[in-house]
Amino acid sequence: MIVVMQADAKEKEIQGVVARLEREGFKVHLSRGTLRTVIGAIGDKTRLEHHALEAMPGVEKVIPILKPFKLAAREFKPEDTIVEVGELKVGGPDLHIIAGPCAVESREQLMETAHAVREAGATMLRGGAFKPRTSPYSFQGLAERGLEFLAEAREETGLAIVTEVTDQTKAGAVAQVADVLQIGSRNMQNFALLKTVARLGKPVLLKRGLSATIEEWLLAAEYILAEGNFQVILCERGIRTFETFTRNTLDLSALAAVKQLSHLPVLADPSHGTGKKELVIPLARAAIAAGADGLLIEVHPKPEDALSDGPQSLRPEEFASLVQEVAGIAKVLGRSLGRIPA
Ligand code: PEP
Ligand code: MN
Repeated sequence: MIVVMQADAKEKEIQGVVARLEREGFKVHLSRGTLRTVIGAIGDKTRLEHHALEAMPGVEKVIPILKPFKLAAREFKPEDTIVEVGELKVGGPDLHIIAGPCAVESREQLMETAHAVREAGATMLRGGAFKPRTSPYSFQGLAERGLEFLAEAREETGLAIVTEVTDQTKAGAVAQVADVLQIGSRNMQNFALLKTVARLGKPVLLKRGLSATIEEWLLAAEYILAEGNFQVILCERGIRTFETFTRNTLDLSALAAVKQLSHLPVLADPSHGTGKKELVIPLARAAIAAGADGLLIEVHPKPEDALSDGPQSLRPEEFASLVQEVAGIAKVLGRSLGRIPA
């Protein structure tokens, strides 16, 4: 529920409501707006009746949160969540571009890509060490050796590392290296994995399932928030539709809707969202125009030799053009590209 305080409520009254809610076991979030303070509360409503709260001094009204996701709802927390990845702030005015190969294939491939994307303006390096592949015969990733290369790339470039956790048994090892833990599309509703990853206390990049509704996606985020980890970045990566020309359909209406429904930052992944390198730049521009807080882009020094997702991977120079084009759109919107602090 949301407790709306009167415009002239005193600090003592606000604290009185917070204390009462916490005493009854509610999770509480305080938002101080310019006009009034709003208190989001999630818990067992039978422990504290609506009218008991409404009778407290300074309270104007109590409104239930009707949506099935509660902690992820904009009502619970009206201000945007800023996810801190080291010194980088995702979800604020600065846009962040995560770039790198689909899979870590070799030390050379990763280092070359890392330097190139850093130079072009990315703030984070992506690359799968553990790969969830549709076919068991496809390249499955370099596993622990891939993690070592990622750690080395961070050391050399200062880029934060984003990499996927595919199963619970490897979650701890991935968290030793990753600055952001990626939950892939295929695992969006792996609830045990969501809970395990949430408890590792690192930011989580939660990709939308390939056939997940907006509500299912936000409920998956709710699993992470309910574990007490609010450092969640959502990522729209395209959904399955009747269209077969593109690999997926990048759902920009979902992106804009989620920005309204939730306080969490939302990125777009036009690489998986289209599956075609020639569509990545136009869709990256459109995603930023639609309100994305950043992008996830696959980049490979030789896409023709890539062990996974070559057809949707940009060459480093194409990625540099993407960054320039996106910077132009960001400017029109009063935003700018995030930078790695010197
Ligand atoms: C990836 O980011 O390389 C990936 C496997 O993405 P998705 O889970 O969106 O398919
Ligand atoms: Mn990929």
